[in-house]
Amino acid sequence: MDDILTRTRAAVWHPCTQMKQLEAAPPLAVARGEGVWLVDTDGRRYFDAISSWWVNLFGHCNPRINAAIVDQLGKIEHVMLAGATHEPVVELSERLAQLTGLGHAFYGSDGASATEIALKMSAHYWRNAGWPEKNGFVSLENAYHGETVGALSVTDIPLFKSTYAPLVRHSAQVPTPDARRAEPGESAEAFALRCADALEAHLAEHAATTAAFIVEPLVQGAAGMAMYHPAYVARARELCDRYRVHLIADEIAVGFGRTGTLFACEQAGVRPDFLCLSKGITGGYLPLSAVLTTDAVYAAFYGDDTARGFLHSHSYTGNPLACRAALATLDIFEQDSVIESNHRRKAVLDALAAPLASHPRVAAFRQRGMIWAFDVRDAPPGFARDFARNAQHAGVLLRPIGNTVYFMPPYVTGDEEMAFLVDATLHLLETT
Ligand SMILES: *Cc1c(COP(=O)(O)O)cnc(C)c1O
Repeated sequence: MDDILTRTRAAVWHPCTQMKQLEAAPPLAVARGEGVWLVDTDGRRYFDAISSWWVNLFGHCNPRINAAIVDQLGKIEHVMLAGATHEPVVELSERLAQLTGLGHAFYGSDGASATEIALKMSAHYWRNAGWPEKNGFVSLENAYHGETVGALSVTDIPLFKSTYAPLVRHSAQVPTPDARRAEPGESAEAFALRCADALEAHLAEHAATTAAFIVEPLVQGAAGMAMYHPAYVARARELCDRYRVHLIADEIAVGFGRTGTLFACEQAGVRPDFLCLSKGITGGYLPLSAVLTTDAVYAAFYGDDTARGFLHSHSYTGNPLACRAALATLDIFEQDSVIESNHRRKAVLDALAAPLASHPRVAAFRQRGMIWAFDVRDAPPGFARDFARNAQHAGVLLRPIGNTVYFMPPYVTGDEEMAFLVDATLHLLETT
């Protein structure tokens, strides 16, 4: 184990990490996975309570997803999607269209590339439609849409953005409907609608230069699991229609059942102009992202002029192995009625978590679908790092965001594992 830790520090530049801190807090050296458990090189087991950064849906080494990938490996591992096509990408596009009502799927590899694709497509649409000055974007305060230079322009988290601000194009932010910010006595819905008034004021002034409003529906994940009322998304849809601005739903984190419906937009009863998907799309197996859009957007690119087309590309666009993992993931949703069985799972964890919700150190306990979060009062400096390290010693993989502790367990978590998670967290609150 020491050997791999020395080698990883020497050769691997870890993401979102000040490498010097890895000496005091070494990374978990994972040898294998089994369902919701990660097993380290010494054979110790850790409950993956945050689904490996929100990507895993049906456990590690899931036999059905493994089998689909192995089957595909014997057929074709990869072929470029420019000038070629293959069954997995066609079937995945058809099934996503059926599930979302958005009939055209463009593929990338990571979430950030999906954001880039949606931003470029939206601005290019307006250019093709004869409104080239509509090329600006608006996002929510504390939004997170990825960290490549284009995606950072609509991300609003200082830790990720400030250093690179000189590289990034300006975009506008409107107030977040984060329900924690409601006035005392104000409902989450009333607060959401009050925030939507600010979006309206912005669009009323800037629609002529705005291509799209991009939003994480219902839960702003990287902001610290900030949850808000679906009325905001419903109203945003109306406003985007009224002011002729696209609505881009970034469901990279909240898609595929995380908020209790297959897609979060369903709870607001809306269909976005662009839907960005990644993370859970392959069950957490392989890098794949997709941007789905409407016939109207697609039609604006279609014609004899090459430059009217969307000439964006990535080498691994529509990779067949990743598409097969995604198809196997959709099969599991269907065959196991996952959305319904997650309602039961949610009820079990809600009941188990009651002592957390009423714990004196816990504020703003909140829950939506398969996400639970709370803020820790009087969190000492370095809380997130210390809590993560102590959790690891207790056999749980948790990574608080600031003073927010959250659970995002895989959808195969059993009752005993949920009880273990809550007990471990209660103990950690006494010791961190
Ligand atoms: C994770 C995430 C992204 C970026 O995805 P990557 O695959 O990490 O580039 C974008 N938007 C949201 C809402 C996310 O949670």
